[in-house]
Amino acid sequence: QTDAALAPLEFAVTKNLAAKSPAAREQILADPGFGTHFTDHMVDICWSVKGGWHRPRVQPYGPISLDPAAAVLHYGQEIFEGIKAYRHADGSIHTFRPEQNALRLQRSARRLALPELPVEYFLQSIRELIAVDGAWVPSGENQSLYLRPFMFAKEAFLGVRPANKVAYYVIASPAGSYFTGGVKPVTIWLSERYQRAAKGGTGAAKTGGNYAASLLPQAEAYENGCDQVVFLDADGNIEELGGMNILFVKKDGTLVTPASETILDGITRNSILELARDRGLTVEQRPVSLTEWREGVASGDITEVFACGTAAVITPIGALKGAGFEDTQPTGELALSLREELTDIQYGRIEDTHGWLHRL
Ligand code: PMP
Repeated sequence: QTDAALAPLEFAVTKNLAAKSPAAREQILADPGFGTHFTDHMVDICWSVKGGWHRPRVQPYGPISLDPAAAVLHYGQEIFEGIKAYRHADGSIHTFRPEQNALRLQRSARRLALPELPVEYFLQSIRELIAVDGAWVPSGENQSLYLRPFMFAKEAFLGVRPANKVAYYVIASPAGSYFTGGVKPVTIWLSERYQRAAKGGTGAAKTGGNYAASLLPQAEAYENGCDQVVFLDADGNIEELGGMNILFVKKDGTLVTPASETILDGITRNSILELARDRGLTVEQRPVSLTEWREGVASGDITEVFACGTAAVITPIGALKGAGFEDTQPTGELALSLREELTDIQYGRIEDTHGWLHRL
């Protein structure tokens, strides 16, 4: 639903009187880490069956008051998004393909029986937050402001049905490099005992339950000395990592990534596929079996494997480990060169020929 005719929301703005001082903010921005510091404000829009979207607010960042019977706490009716704001050399602030996140939030909403936030309202919610917290968008190398829009069922009732009252929020967290130690190849654990999603399930939706289900396999990965997990589907095909999509580079330059109804439709992945097509490379979205991966690496037919997502951009995969085996992965130039091109567009260092940037 792209509703250009929709009247903009009138946000009530309450400034945070206890906002961080510029000096305290700069100290955080010097080394923000990932996901531990938050800006001074948040956006909040209510929804109810009777009133639709209403009471749009920008207010001081802080705890949310919830009834203990709020449906989200019991039945997990919740969805979210992840998107970054980048500061360019001229000081301007941009997001990358935000309408794609808005549309994905609508798809997630449909699957979780939540209301669809109009694309215009999604974009406006981000603009309103940046209007008050723009100073939190860092200007250091590889830094950004990570925006986290989310929506949950807040109606107080015990009973399994879609909630009649819902809240939508946007919070923001300054971000440095996702993986401590910067861009270096990661070791991936093959989850054979646990699966992330099943056909007809919620795998393609960005909903908390998918991530809750990935925590135990992720713990198994750490126990086995790995950084991240890769999941298989019931047929032994590769799905994705806990929070990133996966791509394979073939000897002839073809880029292959799993096609599946049960993975998240990654905006980074889709953008990388477009950049690869622009370079004249062949791109294939199709099922990729574990056998194809392991045999391809052994025979030299696969020359690079990498993961991608908003948070980490592109991360080369250095090894695949499973129960009783460890395959070292070949590393090449393509992943890093695509990473550079994508981040050059995001940070305004090269021309945005696709019109992907959205100035705030
Ligand atoms: N898969 C999962 C499970 C994710 O959580 C993410 C991060 N949103 C991705 C893939 C990558 O998606 P995107 O490139 O849109 O960030």
